[in-house]
Amino acid sequence: MPKHIASGLKFLAAVKLKEKGKSQQYIADELNMDRSTVSHYLNGRNLSGNSIDVAKTITELLPKDFLLMAQSLFQETEQCRKIVNICKEKQYKGNVEETCIGCGLCVNMCFMNAIELESLKAQIDSDYCCGCELCKEECPTNSIEILEI
Ligand code: SF4
Ligand code: SF4
Repeated sequence: MPKHIASGLKFLAAVKLKEKGKSQQYIADELNMDRSTVSHYLNGRNLSGNSIDVAKTITELLPKDFLLMAQSLFQETEQCRKIVNICKEKQYKGNVEETCIGCGLCVNMCFMNAIELESLKAQIDSDYCCGCELCKEECPTNSIEILEI
């Protein structure tokens, strides 16, 4: 069953990429699938509606729960990052207060690789942030605010 749900998430990601005008070959490369499988998915074949429904429900969970579910469903880190980034329902941005001491704990905590230290201050890249708030929970100086855009 987990494999079917992971396939459901790949289906949702494929549809989103298609909506953005990406080619089937691009989608196949991005999702680590062969192009004919992508074609079958986009033509509504080879996948049960139940898998897609469950996958959709997962993408609508709180961002942290979606991320944790995706982590448990996908064996491969980079693939999990891509799926979460493509399928996330909302966009987020992170503000870092002047109280940041540059400890780097948030950088290590961020599964999405959305945080870098610049001049000993954390910077959050909205393109990669999934809104999970794990960085905020980790920060010893309470310097991080995550906002929906
Ligand atoms: S909320 Fe924080 S930990 Fe989560 S993806 Fe965004 S920057 Fe990374
Ligand atoms: S965990 Fe907090 S204090 Fe440490 S680098 Fe990140 S934002 Fe700054």
